[in-house]
Amino acid sequence: MAQYDLDLFVIGAGSGGVRAARVASQHGARVAIAEEANFGGTCVNRGCVPKKLFVYASRFAAEFEQAAAYGWQLPKPAFDWPTLLRNKDAEIARLESVYRRNLDQAGVTIHAERAVLEDAHTVRLSTSGKRLTAAHILIAVGGRPHAGPAFPGQELAITSDEVFHLQQLPRRILIVGGGYIAIEFAGIFAGLGVNTALLHRGPHVLRGFDEEIRTTLEDSYRQRGIRMLLNNTLTRLEKTADGLRATLADGSTVETDVVMLCVGRRPYTGELGLDAAGVATGKNGEIRVDAQSCTNVPSIHAVGDVTDRVNLTPVAIREGQAFADSVFGQRPATVDHSLVPTAVFSTPEIGTVGPSEEAARERYPALKVYRARFRPMKTAFAASNEPMLMKLLVDGETDRVVGAHVLGEGGAEMIQLLAVSIGMGATKADLDRTIALHPSAAEEWVTMR
Ligand code: NDP
Repeated sequence: MAQYDLDLFVIGAGSGGVRAARVASQHGARVAIAEEANFGGTCVNRGCVPKKLFVYASRFAAEFEQAAAYGWQLPKPAFDWPTLLRNKDAEIARLESVYRRNLDQAGVTIHAERAVLEDAHTVRLSTSGKRLTAAHILIAVGGRPHAGPAFPGQELAITSDEVFHLQQLPRRILIVGGGYIAIEFAGIFAGLGVNTALLHRGPHVLRGFDEEIRTTLEDSYRQRGIRMLLNNTLTRLEKTADGLRATLADGSTVETDVVMLCVGRRPYTGELGLDAAGVATGKNGEIRVDAQSCTNVPSIHAVGDVTDRVNLTPVAIREGQAFADSVFGQRPATVDHSLVPTAVFSTPEIGTVGPSEEAARERYPALKVYRARFRPMKTAFAASNEPMLMKLLVDGETDRVVGAHVLGEGGAEMIQLLAVSIGMGATKADLDRTIALHPSAAEEWVTMR
């Protein structure tokens, strides 16, 4: 490999790129990484981490309400948005420096500037103009919010990139979309006391999720006071004396202060030099890769959201690890994308692993569905109607558990653990044999009949 300056050049220091760079370096490769923005990528800077901090902030409202029924007397709680932003920024800055330090300690050379491909083995650094050659190049540049088809006034809307830096907490917000980001932010803003409306083009949000989970979440959001505007789209946005007016396809209007577009993300592949290097892309700009994350150019690999496979941080990390182990560690590895647990941090939150009931029915003719629907004990004293819904999908032919879905507090934590058993091939009999942990919500998983 000495004919090249490096063994590996990684473009993009997000979850996938950082893992690949560190592991390749630990395997003895000479590695450099380029990042044009903050280290840690979307997850750390504009995604999972700041979002979860916002989710925590939003959930205190219900806690304060319930506290009174448990005997706590509190002054009327007041929320201060600048405090949340300041503390969030400090935490993100800390994590960003951890990412940089870890790369440094692993012996990876850091270039804090944009890198562009020139050919199958060469990158050019945009600021310094330096050219570097590498035996292997890994593209891990992630995705960016997509604003959807143009409409008048679109420039007045924000996306998830800007929402983490809003100068002040809006009084009213209109969130457009019915996917992960729209649902999570509708829950966040409603919890923070913002008058929240959610506009989605379909009849139900969260397409692809279990039908019962979707509709129960919608009911729960309505009960929380979120206006669910379904089967409708945004056609126009204009400024008014005190905010924004959104005109919808059915002619109705929504008066609001902020409009947030959450209608999907796209791979960040523009002006990356993919043509110069001959790298093939799909219809949304995603880089096409095989099971080894290799593109059509043998020296160029890609991992994470830029490949638009399963767009989740832990999947990108796993892909980066598998790439580095395979290419530099003589340990061939691929990533199984078939049983990925995931959560939507709505309130109540959703945890899910395996197919929805609807998809499972098509795959398993003898499907058995077990469900528990109840009011969580914690809300026993409160007027809250927050539901808890748990579903277990079992293949009647083999007794194997093929999927689990939960809506309710702690749902994400439960599904992470349940995914281990399901991945190991747990049967319904295995769960039944397990002694319940009482009193907990999770005990329902082993007592469903
Ligand atoms: P999603 O793909 O989850 O959702 C996009 C939403 O926008 C869908 O409801 C879709 O509707 C709607 N939509 C798409 N195009 C249009 C349009 N032209 N007009 C109106 N609506 C439209 O994207 P997100 O941006 O919410 O999230 C991106 C990805 O990031 C997620 O898929 C997920 O992989 C990841 N993510 C994961 C999180 C987690 O793990 N908790 C949190 C946040 C993001 P329809 O259903 O009809 O297509």
